[in-house]
This record gives sequence, C-alpha cells and structure tokens, in this order.
Amino acid sequence: MATPDTLQRRGLMFILSSPSGAGKTTISHMLLNADAEICLSVSVTTRPQRPGEVDGQDYIFVDQPTFDRMVEEEHFLEWAPVFGHSYGTPKAQVKAGLRDGQDFLFDIDWQGTQQLYQKLETDVVRVFLLPPTIDELRRRLTGRGTDAPNVIAKRMERARAEISHWDGYDYVVVNDDIDLCFAKVREILHAERMKRARQTGLIGFVRELMRD
Ligand code: ADP
Ligand code: 5GP
Repeated sequence: MATPDTLQRRGLMFILSSPSGAGKTTISHMLLNADAEICLSVSVTTRPQRPGEVDGQDYIFVDQPTFDRMVEEEHFLEWAPVFGHSYGTPKAQVKAGLRDGQDFLFDIDWQGTQQLYQKLETDVVRVFLLPPTIDELRRRLTGRGTDAPNVIAKRMERARAEISHWDGYDYVVVNDDIDLCFAKVREILHAERMKRARQTGLIGFVRELMRD
C-alpha cells in the first residue's frame, strides 16, 4: 500500500523568471543539484552558445530556419523573441513527464510564462526573482563576464520593462542573499507539491483509510 510519502502525484511546471542578471540561472542550478524530482525543461534557442554552455543541456542551439520549421510543426508549448533571438519550450517531454509525476523547471521570460499559464494553468507555478537594487543588477551582469558592454546596456534597458511584469507571478522573491533566496524558492516548491489537486494518489489512500 502507498504511504503518504510515496503517493502518486502529478508533476508541476515550476517557472523561474527575473530580469536578466538577477540570478535565475544560479538559483536554477542550485535547485537542480539539490532536488532529484525536478529536471530542467531545456529550451531551444537561436542565440549563440556562451562559453561553458553545453548543447542539449543548457539549451538546444539551432539556426533560424530550423527554429521556424519547429514552430510550423508545432513542436513548442510556447515560443518568444528575446534580445533579437528566438527561444521556445519543446512540448513532448513535458506533457508525458507531468503525467508520470516529473516536475519541470523553466527558466523563461514573462512572455513564455503568460503563454504557459494560458495553456496549462493548473500545472504552472510562477516565481519571479527581483534584484535588491538596480546598481546591484548592473554589478551582477558586469561581474558575470559573459556579455559585451553593449549587450549589458541593452539588458539594463530592458530590466525595468521586465520588472514591470512582477504582478503576473504567484510568488516574488528578492534575491539579495543567495542562500536565503534559494531556501525560499525550495519552500515554495515543497508546498506546491503538497497541493491536494496534485496528489492524484490521495483518493485511493483515503478510501483505504476509511475501509472497515
Ligand atoms: P540570470 O540567469 O537571471 O541572468 P545569473 O544567475 O546568471 O542571472 O546571475 C548573474 C550573476 O550574478 C552571476 O555572476 C551570479 O553568480 C551572480 N549572482 C546571482 N545571485 C547572486 C546573489 N544573490 N548575490 C551575488 N551575486 C549573485
Ligand atoms: P539568456 O540568453 O540570457 O539565456 O536568456 C534570455 C531570456 O530568454 C531570459 O529572460 C530567459 O528566461 C528567456 N528564455 C529562455 N528560454 C526561453 C523559452 O523557452 N521561452 C521563452 N519565452 N523565454 C525563454
């Protein structure tokens, strides 16, 4: 018989968004290392690979004609242009995984979040990270050392626009101290897993409890 800890449940779609540089990649990596029940939904993108990024692990890197064909063939749950490149969430893996109780982490922007919410509202948990200050955001983007100064300027320009979407999320966490921020994000994930509607094995468990 299933115990309360092994009850069947439906997976969830855990979306982490933030203005670029606020720390969603860092928090995502911490979460994926710490929690075996969640895996990354690997997006497809046309942007160039950054040093240290692994094709198929961080992103699936494709050229524009390939991306356009994938759109036409309806491979994506959602897709959006960001910073002059295309980004999309592949459909197949996520749909099958949710049924099997697999959780997915999404590192996507507010446009993708809105689209996923419209399609799969009850599976989606939306978390938005904010930087403690705009100066700190600039320091983090510069300190990361992955973007040229003109790209950093573009990301800073967009930061305010991205922050303005804060109210389209279920949870907002300020990423000041990284460990504290990570602990809060984990608490959200743990609580969301416990939601009654996600615990599909509960009906059988309760029926068993109530048997004479
Ligand atoms: P994003 O994925 O949102 O663009 P990153 O996770 O790449 O942001 O973080 C940008 C930079 O800021 C990285 O160099 C990262 O190590 C650093 N960083 C992230 N969170 C913090 C934090 N709480 N305090 C200090 N530096 C941080
Ligand atoms: P980066 O190029 O810094 O990895 O990502 C740029 C932006 O694209 C980030 O805001 C990131 O969240 C967003 N992004 C990454 N993958 C996807 C995706 O599949 N769909 C959407 N809509 N946005 C994405």
